[in-house]
This record gives sequence, C-alpha cells and structure tokens, in this order.
Amino acid sequence: MKSKNLCNFCNYQLSQEVINIGKTPLANSYTNHPLKLTKHMLHLFFCTNCYLVQHSTKLKGENIFSQYQYFSSYSKNFVSLAKENIDKLIKTYKINDKSTIVEIASNDGYLLQHIKNKKINYYGIEPAKNIAKVANKKGIKTINSYLNTKSSKEILKKNNKADLIIANNVFAHVPKIHNFIKSMINLMTNNCIICIEVPHLKNLIKYNQFDTIYHEHFYYFSLSSLKKIFKEYNLKIIDVDKINTHGGSLRVHIAKNENKVKIRKKVNNLIKEEIESKLTKKNTYTIFNKRVNKLKKEILKFHKQNQNKKIYGFGAAAKACTLINYCELNFNSIKYIYDETAAKIGKYIPGTDIKIIKFGRNINKNIDIIIIFPWNHYSEIKKKIQSITKKRIQLVRFIPNIKSEFIN
Ligand SMILES: [Zn+2]
Repeated sequence: MKSKNLCNFCNYQLSQEVINIGKTPLANSYTNHPLKLTKHMLHLFFCTNCYLVQHSTKLKGENIFSQYQYFSSYSKNFVSLAKENIDKLIKTYKINDKSTIVEIASNDGYLLQHIKNKKINYYGIEPAKNIAKVANKKGIKTINSYLNTKSSKEILKKNNKADLIIANNVFAHVPKIHNFIKSMINLMTNNCIICIEVPHLKNLIKYNQFDTIYHEHFYYFSLSSLKKIFKEYNLKIIDVDKINTHGGSLRVHIAKNENKVKIRKKVNNLIKEEIESKLTKKNTYTIFNKRVNKLKKEILKFHKQNQNKKIYGFGAAAKACTLINYCELNFNSIKYIYDETAAKIGKYIPGTDIKIIKFGRNINKNIDIIIIFPWNHYSEIKKKIQSITKKRIQLVRFIPNIKSEFIN
C-alpha cells in the first residue's frame, strides 16, 4: 500500500484533496471494448507548499502520447489564433533571420506553418509518431521525439539553440516536470523567451470545471504556482495574458533571471488577483469539493427526472469521459453521443456502454434532449444542431451548473 503521497514538484506531503473522480480509464482510449479498459485512480490534490494542484497517479507519458489523436489544425479558429500569437511574439521579442524558434509538442504544424515561409530558422519537437509524420509531409520541420534532458542534448548536436521556445498546452501534460524544465533550459540561449499556455486553475475552481480533469492532464496551474516552480530554476515570469482557450487559460512568458527584459505589471496584478480569490488557501479546495459533489447529485437528479425522455449527447471528448464516469452514467441515461471525428465513430465512451455515432443530417427524429459536453464550444454546436433539424429539442449543459434551453 502506498503510504506517502508527495508533491511531484517539491516533495511536500499532499494532504489537501481537491476532488476524487474515482477510477476511470484513460480519456482518449476509444475502443470497441470500453468495459475491458484498465481503470486508474484519478484523485486531485493541492500542495500547500508550492500551490501546485496535481493528481498522483503515475502513468508513463510514453504510453499516453505515442499515438495521440488530436490534430490541432482540425479547428480553424485554433489555427488563426496560433498565427496571431506567433506574429506577436516575433514582433515583441525582435525575432529575426538570425533567430531560431522551437516549438515543443508542435502537433501537425498548426503553428509552425505560419513561419515556414519566413526567413527564420525553426523546428518542432513532437512525441506522437503519426502526427510528426503528418507535419513533415506538409514540409514543416518536425523532430519526432519526447523532450527530456537526454533528447534535448541529442537535438542540439544537429540544431541551434532556441531564441524563442513555444510550448502550448504541453506543460500540464508532462509527468516529469523537473526533467522537462531542465530540457527547456538546455535548449535556451541566454536571451531566450519561453512562451507556455496552460489552463488556468482559477477557472477550474470558479466555474466547477471538474470535467477538465483527466489522467493525461497531470497539473492544474495558477500563476502563483508557476512563479514558485520557475523560481527554483532561476527563471522569471515576465508577462502573462488571459486567453479563452480551454475555458480560460494563461499565456505565460518566461526568461532567465539574468535576462534584463522588463517584468510587465500584469504579472503582479494577476498574482494579487489569485491571492484575493484564495487560490493559495487550502480551504478553497474543500469548498470546491463540496460544490462539485452537489453538482453530481443534481446531474443524477436531472437524469432521474428525464428518464422517460430520449437523451443524446454531443462531443465525445475527454470532458465527456470524465463527467460520465464521475457521475456513473450509462446507456440508460444517455443513448448515444454524436461526434464528428471519424476515428471515434462506432467506438464507445471509455468505461461505458455509450456508443459514439456520426453527427449529420440523419439525426434521430425522436430526440428530446441533447447534452452538450464541450461547454466551451456551446454556441458553435448549438448552431450546428439548429442547421440540421427543425425539431424542438432541449439543449443542456452541466458546467458550471445545469442550464438548458429549447431550440426551434
Ligand atoms: Zn509542492
């Protein structure tokens, strides 16, 4: 039996629970045999020493990401935001034809494609073999590798150090946080700026976003925790922006302490804001825990009250997997879940008997209710449903609280 539950960053004893989702399969493991999947504990804790919120289930990153299915370019909006971001970074930090840009977890080249035709040296590092292949086929230089201290040294044998490192939505997903930071430092020139994007813990807590918790997502950051983490490595946070990605994220710019670049006022302002929201206080997490337990009861009540209605879902992503498993919903509560990703159609929500079916004009005529799981794309999905049916349907979302409306 495990006796010690220690912080992954500072080794402090973890005693403050955030939420216990229970035993669930990995969120992206779509299969035809969903009930045979191995389940792993998903239990979130808050470290009272370094403020890092984390789950303690040890999983090998290699297993999770080797065939990861997410292709960033699938979302047009995402691609145009990436262009805006890279253009701004190049301008702000005076990146020129002598500079090198490195993107970690560069996916299918959704971001690097925008600098492919500029006279700037660049390369991407992408762990998933199938995705790196897609990027290289498009002519976007991508090294298929995990980033760790060993591979970073290998990479530098043939490639330049970076003047700008971009690591969007990857920092929360690396189990070995110390090794990952050391690897980034290996890749940095002295004046290098690191730009990372992570979902903001403040939104998770404030808006009951417990469905953003899944195994592949190891860490849930506040700026206060990031500041402590980077400080250990003589790195400083120089700028921060709140962005809308994933229901509210932070875009954080980091530099070496010796870099004379100015620290923007926004950094301290956000730290103050987090202190005011009590994100560094353990009681906040006790209150969150109670609130989410109450929401679970309300979701179960909703299904009981509507048990004679035909309920479908929309969006078979990680959010749906966590929510459905946490609330122990099954085919009796939700008949099918619509999705548009070809690879998921015909498979099941991991750990349940709820099948994923193709969304399109053949939408079932007897549907009474559709639950929209990706609440961050609610209006987009609502329009999609409205565009293919004239039937009066009740649309429901569960986060931050149960809300519903009728269309048509
Ligand atoms: Zn800690």
